[in-house]
Amino acid sequence: MEYETVQGEEVPKIGLGTWRMHGEICRQAVATALEAGYRHVDTAQAYDNERQVGRAIAESPVAREDVFLTTKVWPGHVDRASIRSSVASSLAQLGVEYVDLLLIHWPNPIASTAEVMAGLNDCRDEGFTRHVGVSNFGADQLKTARAVSDAPIFTDQVQFHPYQPQRDLRAYCQAHDILLTAYSPLAHGGILRDDVLGELAVKYDKSPAQVALRWVVQQDGVVAIPKSASEAHLRENLDVFDFRLTATEMVRVERPSMLKTGASFLRSRLGV
Ligand code: NAP
Repeated sequence: MEYETVQGEEVPKIGLGTWRMHGEICRQAVATALEAGYRHVDTAQAYDNERQVGRAIAESPVAREDVFLTTKVWPGHVDRASIRSSVASSLAQLGVEYVDLLLIHWPNPIASTAEVMAGLNDCRDEGFTRHVGVSNFGADQLKTARAVSDAPIFTDQVQFHPYQPQRDLRAYCQAHDILLTAYSPLAHGGILRDDVLGELAVKYDKSPAQVALRWVVQQDGVVAIPKSASEAHLRENLDVFDFRLTATEMVRVERPSMLKTGASFLRSRLGV
């Protein structure tokens, strides 16, 4: 495993995403991931799986403090008291005393960013979380959040893959020592049939998924949280640290496309 150091803290370059995993499938995936060497797990109040994520961590021989655990509060919670009680309930579901990172899941246009960030900071002051951050914030929204937050913003978690490379946001994060957490790094699985990735997979004797993840983790300031319920995929997704794309290949892989990003999402929803 390799790590990204941000604000003096080391974060594993690959974590496990858990969106759309529930019940025993989720518990088993987290347990398998920890056994395979994952030390970074991403969940959210909205995923309705915090109980299973927490159970897998509690039952694992891996110590709680060795796992970098993130959860998110839903943006329907717009005032400090409501954020606090929602996060307290997340901790109870997870069965942990604290998370490492607490994010506001989406910007909410009718909420006050100052009030929301104050709510996250209250949670940090109370020891519910070690760091606070945001998710799905554009660079301007991130600037606003930074301006009103007492604690530094640790990460912006956004969709990030070869079809959505987030060039401006990444540059902003790098300039301000903010981690960029790449969600849907496989474009919900939509990247797997990509010709360029297929060609590089043959060259490096890796899978297209591994080439896509390599492209993500090879970038400074970025970590990735692919989701998988399959043991083979979980292990494969960790095995991306023994090869390196050339500078030319990094540029070839990166092809921003709203169309492909949208099509990948739709295909994943329709299961085709
Ligand atoms: P993703 O990780 O890009 O793709 C997941 C899909 O790829 C699943 O269908 C998975 O199937 C498949 N897959 C995984 N590894 C594979 C491999 N090695 N070979 C072939 N297929 C593979 O999509 P995601 O779940 O949307 O994103 C990852 C995580 O990011 C989420 O789980 C969540 O934690 C986070 N996220 C956050 C937000 C937010 O708003 N903050 C939004 C979306 C996602 P199998 O399970 O069969 O392997």
